[in-house]
Amino acid sequence: MKFENTLSFAQHLDALDVLAKYRKDFIFPQHKGKNVIYFTGNSLGLQHKQSRVYVNQVMDDWANLAVEGHFYADKPWWDYHERFANPLSAIVGANPSEITVMNTLTVNLHLMLVSFYKPTSKRFKILCEEKAFPSDQYMFQSQLNFHGLHPKDALVEIKRRPGEHNLRHEDIISAIHEIGDELALVLIGGVNYYTGQVFNIEAITKAGHDVGAYVGWDLAHAVGNIALSLHDWQVDFACWCSYKYMNSGPGNASGCFIHEKHHTSNLPRFAGWWGHNKERRFKMEPNFDPVHGADGWQISNLAILSLAPYLASAELFAAIGMDQLIQKRNSITSYLEFILKEINVEVGGNFEIITPQNQEERACQLSVFLHGEGKSLFQFLMDNGVITDWREPNVIRLAPVPLYCSFVDMFQFGQILKQGILSLKTP
Ligand SMILES: *Cc1c(COP(=O)(O)O)cnc(C)c1O
Repeated sequence: MKFENTLSFAQHLDALDVLAKYRKDFIFPQHKGKNVIYFTGNSLGLQHKQSRVYVNQVMDDWANLAVEGHFYADKPWWDYHERFANPLSAIVGANPSEITVMNTLTVNLHLMLVSFYKPTSKRFKILCEEKAFPSDQYMFQSQLNFHGLHPKDALVEIKRRPGEHNLRHEDIISAIHEIGDELALVLIGGVNYYTGQVFNIEAITKAGHDVGAYVGWDLAHAVGNIALSLHDWQVDFACWCSYKYMNSGPGNASGCFIHEKHHTSNLPRFAGWWGHNKERRFKMEPNFDPVHGADGWQISNLAILSLAPYLASAELFAAIGMDQLIQKRNSITSYLEFILKEINVEVGGNFEIITPQNQEERACQLSVFLHGEGKSLFQFLMDNGVITDWREPNVIRLAPVPLYCSFVDMFQFGQILKQGILSLKTP
């Protein structure tokens, strides 16, 4: 399709958009009486109206039933988390038994390393990407220290080539082969939080397995954003947070995938009563007998009030299906890219999109490197009702989330951006 940078063309795209009807179900912050243009759904997704309904239901059950709510609530609390298995398995391409929801993302990564990182004197290295999300870096460092190892010996970071913004797939694969039988674990963010680059999860997982390593993924920026087939790709484990593309609310629970092939193995794990045999959980027995499947990695009884909005959202995503979301994601991201390029020409080439151009290597996010204005432009956008995200040294990240962003938002953003650059240029 040939795009046009006009309001009427953007309106035409909105009229064709089969997901447009969902926008009204989300609550947008207001700026001068209008919805903001929201580009930070990759950081904290907007609130869906149904999430309050789900939370209120838990509040009402608590008020009316108190402790009896564990078994007699409309959605009983003692196995509330099992309601995630179906919708989330559809979203990440898993069998329901491979899914559980618990804790938060970094905590779950730590717990997965209890099971999947067991360094020996021969095989002890972890491979990750350069400039991984800081929490992941701290997680790696502290795990290595815990095992008496030092990151400089045991943590290998795949580097970008000089002058390039993204990692090369072939560099990841050759790093895996180079480390070979010293490699214990590959753990990478499936979609890079900074550039929006999407990695080839299937091929990297296979390469890791070829040298005998476990391969896990941090899917914080991938879940609800890209097509995943974690089961078929033979991924060992994956964890994600739910408050980014999945709109579950601030700091909310993490989803966790553990491949079926590990359910009957004797992997070490940290245990607690919520992972114990469901039928016998309340018999208060001394010996741990894990639930079969990913639920066997559960530890504590769950924060039901926090799971409620996540469940509302997971059900919505599963009902819509990733195919439709991805179709719109591709068209709205391409439209945003087109608008950015048009504006860049009009203002004389002030910025550069550092996200890969190629559709296979990117998803919802475009990261824009500003060579001129820097943070004052970010502030200008904020002051004009456009919420973006600023990352040092000079990057704004834009995520035109397909569920609630409109094509008209993209057009209007372009107009505000242009105005901002031009007004900041003139002294
Ligand atoms: C957002 C994000 C996190 C956040 O972790 P929490 O434990 O939920 O605070 C971790 N890793 C990556 C890659 C992220 O993008």
